Amino acid sequence: IKWTEGRGWHDAQLTPYAPLSIDPANMTLHYAQEIFEGLKAYRRPDGTVSLFRPEANAERFQRSARRLAMPELPVETFVAACDALVRQDEAWVPPHGGEESLYLRPFMIATEVGLGVRPANEYLFIVIASPAGAYFPGGVKPVSVWLSENYVRAVPGGMGFAKTGGNYAASLLAQAEAAAKGCDQVVWLDALEHKWVEEMGGMNLYFVYGNKIVTPELTGSLLAGITRDSLLQVARDLGYESEEGRISTGQWRRDTENGTLTEVFACGTAAVITPVGTVKSAGGQWTQGDGQPGEVTLRLRRALLDIQTGAAEDTHGWTHQVA
Ligand code: PMP
Repeated sequence: IKWTEGRGWHDAQLTPYAPLSIDPANMTLHYAQEIFEGLKAYRRPDGTVSLFRPEANAERFQRSARRLAMPELPVETFVAACDALVRQDEAWVPPHGGEESLYLRPFMIATEVGLGVRPANEYLFIVIASPAGAYFPGGVKPVSVWLSENYVRAVPGGMGFAKTGGNYAASLLAQAEAAAKGCDQVVWLDALEHKWVEEMGGMNLYFVYGNKIVTPELTGSLLAGITRDSLLQVARDLGYESEEGRISTGQWRRDTENGTLTEVFACGTAAVITPVGTVKSAGGQWTQGDGQPGEVTLRLRRALLDIQTGAAEDTHGWTHQVA
């Protein structure tokens, strides 16, 4: 779907997957006016296909667009575009029963050609799809994380809450540092004090205190994950308390060592929930519990995945039937 100044959104097309032809002076290539989303289509037990909370992705896409000075796409248009692609590619949606899905990647780029720094006046919204295997083919495994003190992902007043390529570009070197320290993922801390936990590479974090789960509050510099938001509610359905709060790295370590912080996990569309095993930082390292996936972590993962795949009843009206 195209957008041009004056005309707004027009010319929706469903076309075979093919390379785009881009002018070397395309403004996105130089000034990174780009935003994207990620969501999954699952096959339900009755053979139909559904998306999980696509309206929430559409709303986040609008917030990202505003921050990047791009035009907002109506929520209905975003969802209708995803529906149209899933219907076209329905054969690629794997059978019900596993964790496989058809992953959708909606995105928007500027298409105007020019070398001046200003918002473009032409854009293209596109949705592509790709089959996605199970994130943990051999069973859920804890990840090791590196607390990044040398780099920050987002600053107050910056774009941390937006899903834009620049945030991921800023994360690559820190991710490489984490890998060099023998860790799977980087954990981001706040930009000012380097002590408040924000999020993991492409996932939000949760801290399990017995019967209560706590996730870092939305300060504006972390992404408001749809999985994160869903878990605040699913946890309550299962009888846990859930809340947003502030967790410092010192508290993380102290509460693990004194046994009150029983489990830590990360959550996002790709893996649903990933347990955190070993934590490494410049100041030392520690392990959550016995290093195995925790009971609350696995229970929440099962409950949310069952809603997403249609194996359990969706009392929140989150699933969106496509085909
Ligand atoms: N934080 C970041 C930086 C991410 O890229 C993602 C993945 N979209 C998340 C958190 C989790 O968001 P969601 O639950 O909407 O996938």
